[in-house]
Amino acid sequence: MPTRETSNGPDAFEGSPVRLRVLLPLPLAGAYDYRAGPGLGLKPGDFVRVPLGRRAAIGVVWDDGDGTAEAVAEAKLRNVSARCDVPPLSGEMRRFIDWVAGYTLSPPGAVLRMAMSVPEALEPPRPVIAYRVAEDAPHPDSSDPGEVRLTASRRRVLRELGSGPPRAIAELALAAGVGAGVVRSLIDMGWLEEVELPRTRPPGPDGTRPGPVLSPEQEGAAETLRERQGQGFSVTLVDGVTGSGKTEVYFEAIAAALREGRQSLVLLPEIALSAQWLARFEARFGAPPAIWHSEISPAQRRRTWREVAEGSVPVVVGARSALFLPFAKLGLVVVDEEHEAAFKQEDGVVYHARDRAVVRARFAGVPAVLVSATPALETVINVERGRYGVVHLPDRHGGASLPEIQTIDMRRETMPRNAFLSPKLREAIAETLGRDEQAMLFLNRRGYAPLTLCRTCGHRLNCPTCTSWLVEHRRAGRLQCHHCGHTISRPPACPSCGDEDSFVPCGPGVERVAEEAGALFPGARVALVTSDTMTGPSAAAEFLERMAGHGIDLLVGTQIVAKGHHFPRLTLVGVVDADLGLAGGDLRAAERTYQLLHQVAGRAGRAERPGRALLQTYMPEHPVMLALVALSQRSEARDDFLQIEAEERRRHGWPPFGRLAAIIVAGRDANVVDRVARELGRTAPSGHGIETLGPAPAPLALLRGRHRRRLLVKASREINLQAALDSWLSRVRAPSNVRLTVDIDPYSFL
Ligand code: ADP
Ligand code: ZN
Repeated sequence: MPTRETSNGPDAFEGSPVRLRVLLPLPLAGAYDYRAGPGLGLKPGDFVRVPLGRRAAIGVVWDDGDGTAEAVAEAKLRNVSARCDVPPLSGEMRRFIDWVAGYTLSPPGAVLRMAMSVPEALEPPRPVIAYRVAEDAPHPDSSDPGEVRLTASRRRVLRELGSGPPRAIAELALAAGVGAGVVRSLIDMGWLEEVELPRTRPPGPDGTRPGPVLSPEQEGAAETLRERQGQGFSVTLVDGVTGSGKTEVYFEAIAAALREGRQSLVLLPEIALSAQWLARFEARFGAPPAIWHSEISPAQRRRTWREVAEGSVPVVVGARSALFLPFAKLGLVVVDEEHEAAFKQEDGVVYHARDRAVVRARFAGVPAVLVSATPALETVINVERGRYGVVHLPDRHGGASLPEIQTIDMRRETMPRNAFLSPKLREAIAETLGRDEQAMLFLNRRGYAPLTLCRTCGHRLNCPTCTSWLVEHRRAGRLQCHHCGHTISRPPACPSCGDEDSFVPCGPGVERVAEEAGALFPGARVALVTSDTMTGPSAAAEFLERMAGHGIDLLVGTQIVAKGHHFPRLTLVGVVDADLGLAGGDLRAAERTYQLLHQVAGRAGRAERPGRALLQTYMPEHPVMLALVALSQRSEARDDFLQIEAEERRRHGWPPFGRLAAIIVAGRDANVVDRVARELGRTAPSGHGIETLGPAPAPLALLRGRHRRRLLVKASREINLQAALDSWLSRVRAPSNVRLTVDIDPYSFL
């Protein structure tokens, strides 16, 4: 493990100019040498401005520079220009960055860049300047002091300000009903004087507010988390069915961290849309948390980053990128829905936020809490091995029962042409709507139809730059590639045979299901919810309100509706194609399908009304379906299923029983890509406990115009996979127009 002990004492580089290393947030090999320059008093972790070529750059002092003396000749060393006025990056954060870099085989600078995603935050925040009446200003009602300067509007400003606190120019002008120029003229005359206002922050979340009265199981779980708070590093899985109060329980751990004055980080998979979560948090703690994801405003981003670094933000809830925020006093890390594939970052530095969250907590010496109704197999195995603790919440809060789950064997259903809802499912919907309850149809596929083909010649509409069909989005009147976003309008004639009006849609997307549902139940209010329709927090909030207020009878949606929401009137969930996730070569296909369907089913019947879930499948005897059906009788069915999965993976040496890395070779020239891939294949690690599969064309053999080949390295857990990869990959020279991506613990096999 490439952790390095760094001296973090005060004034580590005080005295004569000294050589030091500065890591820059760039994908370079390592830290660069600089000379500290006198008088800066630099310490490891300090953010510094340095010259880089002809530019200036900001980096972080990484360690004391021992052992790198030969790297840059003394004469060539350049001086650090300045130290930034921002708290230093903590030692635990620097070790975390080094660790992630080593683990993912990424340059440390590329990882540091994630921690320095807001360069503007390194500038001290601009002080808030306000004005008050100067002592020698005339009284607003006094007669004109001789010169003709006390105009009516100037009097209004003086009068306005005389009675209140100092105010900023724009605010004051507005209150006095004058232009900003009038206020400025008073400033110029010296009648108003500047004061610097302290930065005010509204009161933050309060850990002393009482939470709800917990059930005995919940209280026991909360007590365990509270005990571990402040006792150093630990990992605890909160394993409980949907609606059992897992959120309430980990809120107790946050409350404990708040009372200790420590910061908490909560990772959520779909933070941008978690309006319900935010409302609950605010109700519990009396103030909202800071939010961190890709859609917050630049101003919010700058302020949050800085305040996190200063330790003044008590709770951050965010997407996976929040892991790289420079917490000053981290006290707790929570990963909600820890099994979610959305936590896997696939671009740039490839990492899994759940696993990294645990590492982050380990370096910080604080507890990590993983939360799920369907924990990842990796997590369950870690519990079995005794590495993680676990608390269980077996029952739904308020005694509501789990939905009854049944399969509909599609081999036995007589389906009308171009219909996707079986007679059994239709009947169930009719019953549900007849009781004035809500139903939901789930299909994890956006758009109208996944494939459009010409009925005359069989031509398929493909993406020109990906190995992928174009998905029809009928509402938007276009066809779209779901991999690269390439969009066309529907061609009037087949590009292959020229026949007009010959295209037919094949297979269902949610739009098509919504159309069918609307035709079958003309009196029902049908709503379609996908990432295309739910584009932001306000759309999400509006939808939740409409659903909760029973403004929707029949909801049709993708996995965006599968998460976290609580709808008391929703009593039927119909899964249109339960087999959808099982195809393909993904080693976690069964596990993921189980998790998703379990979660979707869990949307039904969360309050007093019992719910049921119906799964349309052509494989009712598949272990996933059997486990889901058994679940309504025995809650252990989930663990039985995980045991079967675990056996399967153990037999093949798949994770978590073995280690895996995917190498993707991509480039525009297929011949060059093939040559590099073959070269990699020839020199690939193989031997005792390690083997390499491939190269083979990736399932997405063409993506955005780049040809892609894959290799998969499988190793036993005793093998140092990173070291093996490193020595292998450093021997192969790839031309600059070919990109090699290394994905440790791959989750995507496309
Ligand atoms: P989970 O996170 O396990 O899905 P939640 O924490 O969301 O469960 O709880 C489900 C619902 O039950 C929420 O509306 C929550 O406020 C409520 N709830 C859970 N426990 C309690 C409790 N002890 N007192 C009051 N309401 C509770
Ligand atoms: Zn495409």
